[in-house]
Formats: sequence, structure tokens, C-alpha cells
Amino acid sequence: MGRVLLPFAYHEPKTVAEAMELAKRDAGTYIMGGCTLVPSLRRRQRRDKCLISLARVEGLDDFGIHPKSGLRIGAKVVASALLPNIWAGKRFAALHEACEQLYPPHIGNMGSVVGNLCSAVPYFDLPTAALALDGEMHVTGPDGDRVIALEEFYVAKFQTALKPGEIVTHLFCQPYKPDTGSSFKKIYRSRRTIEDLHKINAAAMVTLDEERDRIIDARVVLGSWGHRPNRYRAAEAALIGNAPNFDLFVAAAEAVTAELLPATDMDWVEKTRFAQARVLLRDTIAQAASRAKSRHDPFEDATEMLEDAR
Ligand SMILES: Cc1cc2nc3c(=O)[nH]c(=O)nc-3n(C[C@H](O)[C@H](O)[C@H](O)COP(=O)(O)OP(=O)(O)OC[C@H]3O[C@@H](n4cnc5c(N)ncnc54)[C@H](O)[C@@H]3O)c2cc1C
Repeated sequence: MGRVLLPFAYHEPKTVAEAMELAKRDAGTYIMGGCTLVPSLRRRQRRDKCLISLARVEGLDDFGIHPKSGLRIGAKVVASALLPNIWAGKRFAALHEACEQLYPPHIGNMGSVVGNLCSAVPYFDLPTAALALDGEMHVTGPDGDRVIALEEFYVAKFQTALKPGEIVTHLFCQPYKPDTGSSFKKIYRSRRTIEDLHKINAAAMVTLDEERDRIIDARVVLGSWGHRPNRYRAAEAALIGNAPNFDLFVAAAEAVTAELLPATDMDWVEKTRFAQARVLLRDTIAQAASRAKSRHDPFEDATEMLEDAR
């Protein structure tokens, strides 16, 4: 870090079509806040010669939440935009918490949500949270529009399923089912000894039945382990059909760690990481379940009242 940037061409198109044309003509790279891209250019991890800013492109700044139509976050929306939104906090708590826990916090004033997801950095927080919320990337490109589920979006470390020239226009998360809660937690130590091994994040979404005494749907995601965040189907299966309780959350966390492979051959590092993952997952699932159980949603009530009144 601290090295000067090498020269590059810089464009500020006003429309998506113009941006795609420039990307094709000059083999350019899109840039939003630059929080991932600029440090990697400085470190010479990337050597892009042409940057195409999306900051002035029209139509990429929509940010909407509705109980019936879900969450829509345009490519230009920065992470801190979610923080004051009470409905984001209530209905999409996992993503709201991931944005809230960005460190240092001011990075959320510049870094976009979509940019964080497009970076495909294995230890970033927002992909873990958005995956637990069944996020989808809405993409436009030279061959037309398409939707990529976040589960299919990450193909390798630092690599997404985007084709050359494609722009993510927005992230979309389905509306919550009733009696659903979600949660995001992370463990982050500033002392980074072996790459980012000391960082782990987890997210969960839990849906209860009408009586709120049995789990009918679940998502369990662990990030910072391997090249991408992953859903753990065995843990989800262990939760579904059962009454939420502490032993069940422990069993689900164990089901995840049983699938994990050590990243190093250092016993003490792996013991710590596995123990941290177990606790983090247990607490994240427990909090999602507790939110589902105690959920009183004034937004939903108000929407229903308005609809009844019409
Ligand atoms: C000091 C520091 C601390 C940080 N702390 C955290 C943290 O605690 N947790 C965490 O999760 N993250 C953290 N980050 C990462 C930060 O949140 C991301 O770098 C930021 O959100 C990326 O958004 P951006 O708009 O700056 O993306 P950019 O850097 O502009 O772009 C990132 C990548 O996405 C591509 N891209 C961007 N937008 C689009 C689009 N619409 N369509 C297609 N491709 C696109 C770009 O080509 C580039 O490859 C930190 C970063 C820094 C510098």
C-alpha cells in the first residue's frame, strides 16, 4: 500500500448504454466508490488502464423496501444509506447489521452495497448477509438483462459470474415470509497474522410456523471460509421441523463445522477458528430465531390497515 497509482483513462458516462459502450471499446473496468478497486490498483494486484465510473449514471440509485415487493438496492446506493432506515433494520436485519458493522464505519459512506458484493472478496461481510436473505443480482449487459442468484454469483476468489461489460443494476431480496427473523454477526481481530484468517462472519434467516413454535424454513451462511460465503444445507435441514431451542442451535452450528476444512496446518489457529465459528453460528441462528418469535412488525400492520381502509 502507499504506492502511487499508475496512469489510467477515466470516463464518467451518464447512461448505462454509454457505460457499456465504453467498456466494450476500451476494455474498461467499472468503478463506484473505489474502496476495493483503488487499493488493489495501488498494490498492483490489478493494472486496469481504463476506469468507467458509474457515479453519474442515471437510474442506478433506487432504494426501496416494501413488505410485498421486497428490498431493492441500486448500484449507486452506499452501505450507510441503509442505517437510518428502520424498515431495513426490521425486515432485512442481517444486511442492515452487516452494513452497520463495516469497519471503519465511514467506509460505508463511500463504498456501495453492490460494489462490496461485486468485489468477490471472501472475507467481506455483505455477501454473507445478502446470501442468507436469498439475494439476487439484477444485471444488464451487451446480451440483455439477466438475474443471477447470489449463490451462483461467486465462481472463484475475486471472481464473479459477470460477463465482460455487464453492469449490476441492483441487488434484490425477496420480501420476508411472515414470522421470519434474520441476523448477521462477525468476529474481527485487527491483528491479522495470516492473511485474514482471524475474521469470520455468519448470517442466518429463520422462519417459524403460524404458532411460532416450529422452524419451517432456514438459511445458514458462513463467510470468510474458503473462496466465498456458503449456505450449509445440512445445518438448515437440522433446524427445519424442530422447535427452536439452544441445543438445536448448537447442533446446527456443529453440522456446519463438520463440513469445514482447515485452511492451514497450524493446529492452534484451526482450533481457535473452529471454536469461533461454532459460537458465532450458534448465536447468529439463535438471534434470527428469537427475532422471528418476537416479531411485531408495525410496517406490516400499517400496510394492512391502509389496505383494509381502502
Ligand atoms: C479501509 C477499508 C475497510 C473496509 N472494511 C470492510 C468491512 O469491515 N467489511 C466489509 O465487508 N468490507 C469492508 N471494506 C470493503 C468495502 O466495503 C468495499 O470495498 C466497498 O463497499 C466496495 O464498494 P465500492 O463502491 O467502493 O466498489 P468499487 O471499489 O468501486 O468496485 C469494486 C468492484 O466491483 C465492481 N463493480 C462495482 N459496481 C459494479 C456494478 N454496478 N456492476 C458491475 N461491477 C461493479 C468493480 O469493477 C470492482 O471490481 C473495507 C474497505 C476499506 C478500504
